[in-house]
Amino acid sequence: MDNLKFINLEPTENLTKTDVNSIWKNCLSRIKENVTLMTYNTWFLPIRPIEILNNNLKVQLPSQFFWEWLDEHYSTIINKTIKEVLGSSGTLSYVITDDKETKEENIKKENASLVNKIKVVEKPKPAHETNLNPRYRFDNFIRGEGNQLARAAAGAISDNPGETSFNPFFIYGGVGLGKTHLIQSIGNQIIEKFPDKKVIYLSSDSFTVEFVESIQSNKVNEFSSFYRSMDVLIIDDIQFLIGKEKTQDLFFHIFNTLHQSRKQIILSSDKPPKDLKGLDDRLISRFQWGLTADIQPPELEMRIAILKNKAEDYGMLVSTDILEYIANNITSNIRELEGCLIKLLANASLNSKEINIELAKKTVKEIATDRKVNITIDDISKAVCAYLNIAENKIREKTRKKEIVFARQLAMYFSKELTKSSLKTIGLHFGGRDHSTVIHACNSIEEMKNKDNSMKELIEGLRNKIMLNYS
Ligand code: ADP
Ligand code: MG
Repeated sequence: MDNLKFINLEPTENLTKTDVNSIWKNCLSRIKENVTLMTYNTWFLPIRPIEILNNNLKVQLPSQFFWEWLDEHYSTIINKTIKEVLGSSGTLSYVITDDKETKEENIKKENASLVNKIKVVEKPKPAHETNLNPRYRFDNFIRGEGNQLARAAAGAISDNPGETSFNPFFIYGGVGLGKTHLIQSIGNQIIEKFPDKKVIYLSSDSFTVEFVESIQSNKVNEFSSFYRSMDVLIIDDIQFLIGKEKTQDLFFHIFNTLHQSRKQIILSSDKPPKDLKGLDDRLISRFQWGLTADIQPPELEMRIAILKNKAEDYGMLVSTDILEYIANNITSNIRELEGCLIKLLANASLNSKEINIELAKKTVKEIATDRKVNITIDDISKAVCAYLNIAENKIREKTRKKEIVFARQLAMYFSKELTKSSLKTIGLHFGGRDHSTVIHACNSIEEMKNKDNSMKELIEGLRNKIMLNYS
């Protein structure tokens, strides 16, 4: 099958069904190497290839939520695979079986042609200029005790960007609690209400990357004046500016310019400003000029409300006792609640099973282990090295250098906590150490964590960073 990649697809060439199938098989085998088996079985096996025209592979998906899920979670790997297999001009388009229509049609006439039952769904165009995801809106953001203040302030800011005393607006809280959703809702509301206002959303990581690129291409001034020209600047996960002095310095100046000219600044973080150790004090004090609001984990009622709301979104009827079961068992994170519901719907719709409490129990269990399945030791070692600013190959070296030993111990500690790998496997990953070294590493980190508060914060910040990609 490997030689398939040498097929030269002329733009106008139409391929036979067999060709299309084997090309898709080739894609699948590449995808399989990059995702967990469960993900592969649930989200990739049900995809049916239809045709290839003008280097565009058209596939059929079972439902709308299936497409949304794929698009949100796996678009990178899908795009990469398509380009690998079809060449750089290769594209993918989706066709979705309209569930309801299909069922009705089937009843009416059994031999109805497939063409009538599928409709092509165009991918909504992302608003590139703002980076805002139109999915994040106030009207699908559920209010609860945990987000009351943050939500109220967000509303006020959207009505009067830059004109309230909530400038900057600084919102903090744990992973998956709605920070990104809320700050993007503000942006979306503002562009709707004030179409002339220039709004931009980005993570502090992207900000850093763009800054570094602007240095390399000698365009720092352009970079800086672009952000200074915004009416509303929204920066997500600002904690990742820690340790990046130059970026902080530039951001400090942008912040001042914007604030002086009453432009709205909105920031999110995993902790309050005063706990952002390692961030320039000038920034920390400025972050406290406006309003700081936290988001707390949702209480039971809110968890149920969120599940009800999302179930409705997907057009599925799920009984209250099932929603309550999920809400009682997934407690700390809204993203996980959502993930559980989607998985339940997927499990039911793909296996033509009804949604009952047994299926719900099974799904909740799967969710609990999902995270562990998804994170790999390599991911952890990458994240740790990036966080501590050391080259990744160093972590496996036989050296007693303090910072390397520390990085290695941290990576072992997280590998034990966040993956299912055995101590032996973990040891092997870090330069062939044995399991007792791993135990020793875990104990030392645990000890440092208990003794030293700033160490505890470093560890938690790092854990959040690792989890961010997988929860
Ligand atoms: P964070 O940025 O704090 O890690 P996100 O904003 O990414 O969290 O939220 C995780 C998921 O949960 C998103 O899909 C988001 O839409 C959803 N979500 C979070 N809070 C709410 C809420 N109050 N109402 C509805 N959905 C929410
Ligand atoms: Mg976020």
